Amino acid sequence: MFRTLLIANRGEIACRIARTAHRLGMRTIAVYSEADRDALHVQSCDEAVCIGPASARESYLNIKALIAAAKRTGAEAVHPGYGFLSENAAFAQAVIDAGMVWVGPPPAAIESMGSKSGAKAILEPAGVPMVPGYHGDNQDPDFLLSKAEEIGFPVLIKAVAGGGGRGMRIVEKASDFTKSLETAQREAIGAFGDGTVLLEKYLTKARHVEVQVFADSTGQVVHLFERDCSIQRRHQKVVEEAPAPGLSSETSAAIGQAAVNAASAIDYLGAGTCEFLMDADQNFYFIEMNTRLQVEHPVTEWITGTDLVEWQLRVAAGEPLPLSQNDIRLQGHAIEVRLYAEDPSRGFLPQTGKLEVLKFPEHDGFVRVDTGVVEGDEVSPHYDPMIAKLIVRGENRAQAVARLRSALADTQIAGVTTNRAFLHAVARHPAFADGDVHTGFIDQHSADLNVTLPNPSDEVVAAAVLAVLDQRRATAEQQAARTDDPYSPWNSTHGWRLNERVHETVQLDWNEQRYAVQVAYIGREYHMTLPTSPANTRVVHREPGRLAVEIAGRRFNVGVHVEGQDISVMARRGTYRFALHDPGTAAMGQDASGGKLTAPMPGKVTKVHVKAGAAVKKGAPLLTLEAMKMEHTLNAPADGTVVSLRFGEGDQVEEGVELVAFESA
Ligand code: ADP
Repeated sequence: MFRTLLIANRGEIACRIARTAHRLGMRTIAVYSEADRDALHVQSCDEAVCIGPASARESYLNIKALIAAAKRTGAEAVHPGYGFLSENAAFAQAVIDAGMVWVGPPPAAIESMGSKSGAKAILEPAGVPMVPGYHGDNQDPDFLLSKAEEIGFPVLIKAVAGGGGRGMRIVEKASDFTKSLETAQREAIGAFGDGTVLLEKYLTKARHVEVQVFADSTGQVVHLFERDCSIQRRHQKVVEEAPAPGLSSETSAAIGQAAVNAASAIDYLGAGTCEFLMDADQNFYFIEMNTRLQVEHPVTEWITGTDLVEWQLRVAAGEPLPLSQNDIRLQGHAIEVRLYAEDPSRGFLPQTGKLEVLKFPEHDGFVRVDTGVVEGDEVSPHYDPMIAKLIVRGENRAQAVARLRSALADTQIAGVTTNRAFLHAVARHPAFADGDVHTGFIDQHSADLNVTLPNPSDEVVAAAVLAVLDQRRATAEQQAARTDDPYSPWNSTHGWRLNERVHETVQLDWNEQRYAVQVAYIGREYHMTLPTSPANTRVVHREPGRLAVEIAGRRFNVGVHVEGQDISVMARRGTYRFALHDPGTAAMGQDASGGKLTAPMPGKVTKVHVKAGAAVKKGAPLLTLEAMKMEHTLNAPADGTVVSLRFGEGDQVEEGVELVAFESA
């Protein structure tokens, strides 16, 4: 076995490969773009080499830079992961030519399976069943139209070089064909530099069932059962499971054998996946072969008790497969979901931003989390917006589904819009529980999977209010710690004095609605006036980042996070992001035309920073109020003039009274 492995990838898959490589005693080399300097995959490896700027084209797709990095660090082997250059025959050849081991199939196998039509031409004679269609060389539009009519509509136009669901068009009727053909070709040229297409019968209500295959250099070829990856959006997988639910043992054996036949027909080596479509009668048809490790390989690892990266490394090093077909046993059921930074309510549009909160359930033997990011990292626009893969297992499918639900409920993310709540809705859906999965699942159930958040419940609003109060108290305590004056009012903020009554209104905005909550702190208890329940909310217990709220004897646990004026409450249904409406600061934006600056709560004027008639810049402090043991400074809402001051230092003021008359410039 080789001692030094370069991982030509990033993110979760680079971290995952490094884990196994370390376990096998290898030295690992990461590569990174300038945008990934501090990324988790860089920290996960023993060494790391910068291979270029953020753009993938100049870094992770830069063959020259990768080979140079491998040579510089004395790597003996290169693992390409998935995506990027993992199915690039030229890269595989460059690695081999540089005298290193390529952890993958021979370049010729990558090449022959790289074209969907080429793969069909090779595998059809080997007896692998194909979707009815046309995958020949003739690309004349009229000829293709006549073929489409022969096949019968609906027809699917696919780029032969396609991947990731791009360059694909469903055509319902002959009159739409030519236009769709042009679009598919244009997209294919843009994405893959090759406009060649093939035609397939479009199977409605089909399932995507794929088989994991493995081959070694002694000629042994095995399969590790099938995975169902039918739940897709934009022809891309989001939920994968193994084994495929509801498959008869005959079908499972037959599809496994078909995949082994395919791999044998091309003298395969290493890990590969044969993808099939399956109709309602469990007839299956080959669609393509991926000559690399799949994103969803963990579900197979869990039902077979294997480490597929270890298998890849062993096979690449010339060792035989660790298990023969008869020794590969299937046990239990595993499901993976892909957590993406994307907005399901806007066509799953990718999102970017800072992962202010990122908390996963504990790895406990039943839940596995593969990720390449940590709390505080950015989801950048440069790469795939996948945040993590959540994988669960159970003795049977029902148990795995139940664990998936709770694992998703226990996942907390704030700062970036994600598909977490959407996946949770899928996991809770009765059709999913029944195993009624097919590629149209998301469309069919879109009404139920609609993840528009309902108005926040009282618990959610109460949690947001408590987060604000907590934050204010923490700030006050910090200030207290900084002052030497033992008599400073800040020093009494530890523990609120018994029987002290404090009143305040906290105003929070969500979805263009304002939630104004009156809070009273009486005898160590908070009492709140919430949108729907009687004013009687109590905090039972709290710990950092998590709150317990009790209303009328029912207790709720939620995660909270405050980032500036934004308060995120991570409830089961989704993350609510409230904006704190602080009249002091809100006035800056909302009342910029000038006018009144009012007291946000009853309190005492502790400092007047300006004189009447003063010209001030936007944001300049005007007056400081002490209330709820906190200081609130009112700032100038815009450049302008202080017309008059209504109160002086030491004055008590009522909530809502005008403190400063201000005129914008
Ligand atoms: P890509 O390489 O772009 O991922 P695939 O050929 O693997 O493209 O197909 C992706 C998905 O598109 C499949 O998993 C399936 O959901 C859908 N699909 C592909 N071919 C067909 C077909 N002939 N009929 C119905 N759905 C299809």
